[in-house]
Amino acid sequence: MLELNQISKSYKLADNQVFPALRDINISFKKGELVSIIGESGSGKSTLMNLIGGLDSDFTGKLLIEGRNIGEFSSKELDAYRKNKVGFVFQSFNLIPHLSVLDNVTIAMTLSNIGKSARVARAEEILTEVGLKDHMKKKPNQLSGGQKQRVAIARALINDPDIIIADEPTGSLDSETTEQILELITNIARKGKLVIMVTHSEKVANHSSRVVKIADGRIVDDIKGMDIGSA
Ligand code: ADP
Ligand code: ADP
Repeated sequence: MLELNQISKSYKLADNQVFPALRDINISFKKGELVSIIGESGSGKSTLMNLIGGLDSDFTGKLLIEGRNIGEFSSKELDAYRKNKVGFVFQSFNLIPHLSVLDNVTIAMTLSNIGKSARVARAEEILTEVGLKDHMKKKPNQLSGGQKQRVAIARALINDPDIIIADEPTGSLDSETTEQILELITNIARKGKLVIMVTHSEKVANHSSRVVKIADGRIVDDIKGMDIGSA
């Protein structure tokens, strides 16, 4: 479903210098995979996620989503890809503080042909699925870290994207909450989405279906992990 073919990415520095952040990356991902991307700080993990998420299309090689090269998307197509095909989850949740849980989710809906009440119904359904049925009227500062991350996950799922990209999704959670969020994320992959996350957590990596290690912009390890099953 997602295929990276000879992907390289260099950042331009001063004095016409370039820094190669990704070098000849060849890898493909399937629906239903829960992938952990690991590697030292500065190895290229964020750069890779930015490419996959359509946040940066300045690279060489082919980044194929369902056979089409993201590198050749018009800015309009890239916009649509980011909004509808990918859901983002961050370490720091990135919720809007003055909006309720429900509004944090509905505001992310991009399907323009849906009326207000249908939007709210859809958001309520997703929030119930992630275990926040009784917290929809609260503001983010009235939630625990794990609950905030559940809101962010609901927001990421609201447009039914094929790919979920998560940057250290458990990075600011304690170990018990990490397990709960990991279980939720695992279920999302089981239901057929491709989940790719950057993590420094051994626990998270150990419970992924695949672990990809990056060093100096190259893939140095790509190992099969746990059998997470499918729903
Ligand atoms: P990024 O990989 O997104 O550039 P960093 O590598 O700077 O981010 O690290 C993000 C967070 O993870 C920071 O809080 C940092 O202290 C922590 N961290 C970095 N490397 C490790 C590691 N090897 N093990 C555990 N935590 C780490
Ligand atoms: P990671 O997420 O694994 O910490 P990054 O993808 O953020 O790694 O960075 C990979 C390398 O690219 C690092 O050496 C970093 O300093 C460099 N880099 C990242 N962003 C830029 C940028 N905008 N300009 C120049 N160099 C960058």
